[in-house]
Amino acid sequence: MNAILEHFQHLGLSLVHGIETYPSLPSTNAFARTRIAAGCAPGTVIRARQQTAGRGRQGRHWLGHKGSLTFSTIWPLQWRIPEALPLVIGVGAAAALARWVPDIRVKWPNDLWVGDRKVAGMLGETFLATDERWLIFGMGINVNGHFPLQEEGNQAASLAECCGTELPLETVFLHVLQHMDSILTQYGAGQGSLQKDLERWGNFLHRLVEVRGSQERFCGRAVGVRSDGALLVETGQGITAVHAGDVSLRPATFP
Ligand code: ATP
Repeated sequence: MNAILEHFQHLGLSLVHGIETYPSLPSTNAFARTRIAAGCAPGTVIRARQQTAGRGRQGRHWLGHKGSLTFSTIWPLQWRIPEALPLVIGVGAAAALARWVPDIRVKWPNDLWVGDRKVAGMLGETFLATDERWLIFGMGINVNGHFPLQEEGNQAASLAECCGTELPLETVFLHVLQHMDSILTQYGAGQGSLQKDLERWGNFLHRLVEVRGSQERFCGRAVGVRSDGALLVETGQGITAVHAGDVSLRPATFP
């Protein structure tokens, strides 16, 4: 069974409800643990107007900005984080944000890009509390503000920089939450197709890509995405299924 379906089917509740907003937090994912331990309801969204010590994968830093949206959602977790979850939520978020920035796309496995600029990132983490497992799913979206160009190959930008005008932060937030809720409900009902959605909203399918892992790097053509979220890359040796883990994906610099 599709892991997303398996995970969300049993919840039987609106997946996103109850927003807690804080002026400033080091990390919404970290604070979510405190709220879970205090017994907050499943589906609670923790939002920080300013996040001062946001995290990416493998302890990397996530830069905050006053014009950013940073929030984490709390759900009970059945067994492990469905690998496809950031892709599904990414598709929902991209569809929401396309109202302002039509070129926004999902970059496997957990980012949103506009052209070659990264405008949002996602981070799913598990947490064990009172004998229950929880999923904390964090999202950082650079909505407004200026992001100076960073190191080569990972250029941050805000949506405002991409479309040339400031966006209404509160409207953007609610619009993204609504789309997240509806896409998770859709996939939870077994009605979503990652391959189809990423043909529309992804920026990597049918392109030459470079897969960068801690042990290896290789180039190939991204030919598909499995329903579990694995990326299918065709190389001279056949088709390899790539799992997110700590793998990064970039447009290939050479064929
Ligand atoms: P990629 O897939 O692009 O290699 P990643 O998804 O593994 O990156 P994450 O760990 O999710 O990266 O995010 C952290 C990285 O994102 C940082 O190392 C930095 O390069 C970049 N970054 C940090 N803050 C921002 C931001 N506000 N906007 C865009 N990029 C950012």
